[in-house]
Amino acid sequence: KANKKLHPENTVIKVGNMEIGGPNVVVMAGPCSVESREQIIDIARNVNDEGASILRGGAWKPRTSPYSFQGLKADGLELLNLAKDETGMPIVSEITNAAHIEMFLDSVDIFQIGARNMQNFELLKEVGKTNKPVLLKRGFSNTLEELLMSAEYIMSEGNEDVILCERGIRSFETYTRNTLDISAIPALKKLSHLPVIVDPSHAAGMNWMVEPLSMAAVAAGADGLIIEVHNDPANALCDGAQSLTYGEFKETMRKLKMIANTV
Ligand code: PEP
Ligand code: MN
Repeated sequence: KANKKLHPENTVIKVGNMEIGGPNVVVMAGPCSVESREQIIDIARNVNDEGASILRGGAWKPRTSPYSFQGLKADGLELLNLAKDETGMPIVSEITNAAHIEMFLDSVDIFQIGARNMQNFELLKEVGKTNKPVLLKRGFSNTLEELLMSAEYIMSEGNEDVILCERGIRSFETYTRNTLDISAIPALKKLSHLPVIVDPSHAAGMNWMVEPLSMAAVAAGADGLIIEVHNDPANALCDGAQSLTYGEFKETMRKLKMIANTV
């Protein structure tokens, strides 16, 4: 169903009054994790003012260590909705468990499936039974063919609103957190009609590299970006090193606007 040969027109996914996969580059921004009411509302206001149109924020965090901050869970979803009430921004947040679908249906606009769950086929099938868009991240050791098959798991259940996300893969290189696979963008656009977005934050792992990777992604044809922004990166509970300050996000948006129409 994701195959471009069988479905040549590109899929455009409507979220609020935004179109993902249309002529404009959609910018999703926000913290890795929701940490407090003040934090999420302040970040939402800021990224919205700078031109981001969708608010990201993790409530359930799939951390490498069980002793790391695991997210505010249901309280995090509630705080995201307070930020949505303040700014009008639709919300994308990661779902890690099919048992949470009902709760997420009430509180997010886009389900995020994280890299670690790209092949959690039971979870994919369950979100496939809903009618909410799904942002599907590429697993860090998965091929494009495997990513597209995971999209099929969602689409085969009836939900065809899948957004593919390249977020960097494991390679022999250790300088960056992951290796951004720029070729994934034209390749996925050739193979499928689904929107393709890029997460430069998890690819780079460091704030200063997010801007050049964002520019490269847009130049290569990405339909959107998902960028981590924090009010106080040095004290972030998760992924501070790769989170942009408000100033860095503003500058990144300024540069992006020189090469694309961002919304
Ligand atoms: C995230 O978006 O914060 C995240 C955990 O991303 P990924 O699943 O790509 O590691
Ligand atoms: Mn993160």
